[in-house]
Amino acid sequence: MRRFLQLVSEETGGPLEALARQSQQVTRRHFGKTMRLFAPLYVSNECVNNCSYCGFSRDAGIFRTTLTVNQVVTEARHLHGLGFRNVLLVAGEHPKFVSDGYLQNCLDALKPFIPTLALEVGPMEDDQYAEIVGHGAEGLVVYQETYQRETYTQLHTAGPKKNFDWRLNCPERAYAGGFRRIGDFVNANRKLHARIVMPGFIFVGESSHLKLPNALLIQLNLGVPEIAAKRASSESINLLFASWV
Ligand code: SF4
Repeated sequence: MRRFLQLVSEETGGPLEALARQSQQVTRRHFGKTMRLFAPLYVSNECVNNCSYCGFSRDAGIFRTTLTVNQVVTEARHLHGLGFRNVLLVAGEHPKFVSDGYLQNCLDALKPFIPTLALEVGPMEDDQYAEIVGHGAEGLVVYQETYQRETYTQLHTAGPKKNFDWRLNCPERAYAGGFRRIGDFVNANRKLHARIVMPGFIFVGESSHLKLPNALLIQLNLGVPEIAAKRASSESINLLFASWV
């Protein structure tokens, strides 16, 4: 962590630009000008949580639905026809998705024609993650929304998502369960943006709790809210380095 701070410190004139150029050259050499595209596939808006920024909250008076496995396959075939080979299954947080085998059945049905499958669903236990990985999921996305406990408590008023630490430790459980790609994200909601302490150092510091032995074997993504143009250069670069570190 100290080494990272020295690297990006403006006071010490950290060699960020030179490192960024070298990183770009290596990336282009190995991959060319390529970019990973994924398509989100919303499979359910059922949720047991109340999050003050989300229209899927359990107290929201909206029509609830969960796609059947056949409907999920139909949607995925449409995405496949558009060229997508990387699909993110998105759902609210509900225990039945895992305990009743719903996600497992979706993965079994999609795996034969979608080679890269990831999930954005509620946190699970280690053994549940291992089971899900066994059914073909390789990526997991978990939005932490904010790393400030006080703000987190104000925003999450009911349901298991109230438990800050349970969610914060999710990437480690996902790693233990065998996921190859793990995303640890802050919400891009503009209203939250003002309340989130944005500088990359803080984000990195808060994320440094992650204990992922052999982490080089996985891809760890860190996402951020929209960054004001003026601040983008230094902060986004700091965060890119967070992924690298
Ligand atoms: S857990 Fe997710 S889907 Fe459910 S209310 Fe919160 S943000 Fe929305």
